[in-house]
Amino acid sequence: MYALELEDLVMHFGPVRAVDGVSLRIRKGSVVALVGESGSGKSTVGRSIVRLLEPTGGTVRLADADITHLSRRRLRPHRRDVSIVFQDPAGSLDPRLSVGDIVGEPLRLMRQRDTTGPVAEALRRVGLRPEVAQRSPHELSGGQRQRVSIARALISSPALLVADEPTSALDVSVQASVLNLLADLQRDLGFACLFITHDLSAVEYLADEVAVMYLGQLVEQGPRERIFGVPAHPYTQALLSAAPVPNPVAQRARQPVLLGDDLPSPIDPPPGCRFHTRCPVAVEKCRTVVPEARVIGEGGHQVACHLVSDDGTGPDVRERPGR
Ligand code: SF4
Ligand code: MG
Repeated sequence: MYALELEDLVMHFGPVRAVDGVSLRIRKGSVVALVGESGSGKSTVGRSIVRLLEPTGGTVRLADADITHLSRRRLRPHRRDVSIVFQDPAGSLDPRLSVGDIVGEPLRLMRQRDTTGPVAEALRRVGLRPEVAQRSPHELSGGQRQRVSIARALISSPALLVADEPTSALDVSVQASVLNLLADLQRDLGFACLFITHDLSAVEYLADEVAVMYLGQLVEQGPRERIFGVPAHPYTQALLSAAPVPNPVAQRARQPVLLGDDLPSPIDPPPGCRFHTRCPVAVEKCRTVVPEARVIGEGGHQVACHLVSDDGTGPDVRERPGR
């Protein structure tokens, strides 16, 4: 069974096609990383899942319930199905409330009166002392504030956590500890997680599966070992080539692939394959024909590229001569 099923999710803001047909499933208890450049639509996917945004097309199912167009009132029973942690803890915590009120809010919204015990337990779980409940969020460090956001997100024991760049606004010195905390909590509590990030080393550490997004669409998805080991889409290969590689030999053999131009505008995305304006191996067909996603390997490894054959073989843009 799945904690989340997205079917052909579409989110347009007027002419801006932020998300344009994303299909993705997350099994109960597993972690899927959603990666891609900023502006690719990752956060918009996350916000649609927790229904901060109402999708303009497609379906969002949480634990088998279609929540795509539910009203605020009818969403209430689904509060236990999903929570979100945002990138910037300073901006997502109400400064007028105490930490205890912030962390206990999800329970109060579910009509639970006494939240003192659960709040203390939630704070303990994220490594904060119970006294922190009396403090105000602005008295805390960035890392502590993000622990508070995580405590609030998990106090209702959600089946799915959406974590949108949970460490990228933090000092580098505390990023690893917050990431470790998330990994420990996920292992101990067993929630499913959509981990939105552009930090590929964090992905390798946390994720069971990886979905790669480009300009509002998924270009490749599959088990982590396949995406890191045998990436098939030229965009995935380029992303990986730019990430720090733990193996220095591999690093030397493979130069970073420079994609040149910035991400094209989602207002008028390129026709055919959306990546063709930056793809080092594009052919004529790529300019006009949209590549369909196809399964190319075990674990549901899928890719949308004309040049990848059904057994997953195709160009590797990291191995082009002269690069
Ligand atoms: Fe490159 Fe063409 Fe494949 Fe798109 S379909 S990634 S342009 S080779
Ligand atoms: Mg974002």
